[in-house]
Amino acid sequence: MIIKLITILIFVFLIYKMTKSIQSAFKGAGERMHGETHSGEQTKPPVSEDAEAEETVFDEMCSSYIPKTGAIMVESKGDVHYFCSGACRQTFLNSHGGRPY
Ligand SMILES: [Zn+2]
Repeated sequence: MIIKLITILIFVFLIYKMTKSIQSAFKGAGERMHGETHSGEQTKPPVSEDAEAEETVFDEMCSSYIPKTGAIMVESKGDVHYFCSGACRQTFLNSHGGRPY
C-alpha cells in the first residue's frame, strides 16, 4: 500500500515536472520571438532621397547634361525636351517648333 502511494506520488511529481518544463519551453520560445521582432524594428531601410535630386537631363542645343530640377521644359510632337536656359529653348523652338511645357 505504501509502495503504491509512493509510485503515485512519483508519477504526479513527474507530470508536474513535465508540465513545468513544457511551460518554460513555450515561454522561452515566446521571448525569443519577441526579441526577433524588436531587432527587426531596429533595422531601418536605406534612405535614397539624393538619387532623385541628382537626376540629369540632356540639353540637345548645347549638348550638355543639366539637373532636371533646374531645366526648362518644352513639349514638341509629344516629346518633352529639356534645356539649360531660355536661349537654348528659343533656339529649339525656332528650328523644331513646339510650345513651352
Ligand atoms: Zn543649353
